[in-house]
Amino acid sequence: MATIKVNGKTVTADESMTVLAVARREGIDIPTLCFHEGLGPYGACRLCVVEAESPQLRRSLVTSCTLAVSEGLSVETETPLVAASRRIIFELLLGRTPDSSRLREMAKRYGVETSRFRAAESDDCVRCGLCVRACRDKIGVAAISFAGRGQKRRVTAEFGKLSEACVGCGACANVCPTGAVRLEDKGGERTIFLKNNLIGRFPLVRCGNCGTPYATKQFLDHVASRNSEQPRTKQGGLCPECERAHYAEAIVAEFSAS
Ligand code: SF4
Repeated sequence: MATIKVNGKTVTADESMTVLAVARREGIDIPTLCFHEGLGPYGACRLCVVEAESPQLRRSLVTSCTLAVSEGLSVETETPLVAASRRIIFELLLGRTPDSSRLREMAKRYGVETSRFRAAESDDCVRCGLCVRACRDKIGVAAISFAGRGQKRRVTAEFGKLSEACVGCGACANVCPTGAVRLEDKGGERTIFLKNNLIGRFPLVRCGNCGTPYATKQFLDHVASRNSEQPRTKQGGLCPECERAHYAEAIVAEFSAS
């Protein structure tokens, strides 16, 4: 455990925690775009900067999602320097993604409604990398990645075509903070769009109990292969709701029998 100061308040926190986690625990609002609980720190969007100093660290602006708690650390989340830095970052992001309503709403909450910047190519993607990391680190597929540098850096599937690696899990769309990656389930079919490009189209497997279309065969087979199980598609798998009900019934039956 370490004793630190956050906005002048003395708190204790485990040294495995980040400053962002401590601030959230203390009810302090710090904006983030590239942070996701399930994926860990990345420090790409830099919206979560705070002013910090400690016996080892000269007072400076640091991303709170990557800054670990340490004894004697002192953090300020709302100084004029932090506010000015956030403002510039929001303006740069708005210059690149002026049509993202989620970003516009977020920027407005921090007093930014216009941008002095305008990127040569604008779209909804803020280049936070959440979709790329979810696909690679959580799903273990890496069907999408970054390509290009600087202003030309963008998220893309293989050669901008339908991805052969994609299993249609939808994790990328679930973590995307702006809606640049989209999932549509319609007519028993799932489509995944990366901005306006179609990267995956899959028929959906129906639940063996209620008949609801709920996942792609490719995803169920992928999960089964990682868990060394029989593919659930061969056994007539259950959707999450029916699986929960099935387990609840099994537990009740077990208690009743004992
Ligand atoms: S839907 Fe395809 S691209 Fe998106 S995370 Fe799943 S495998 Fe990766």
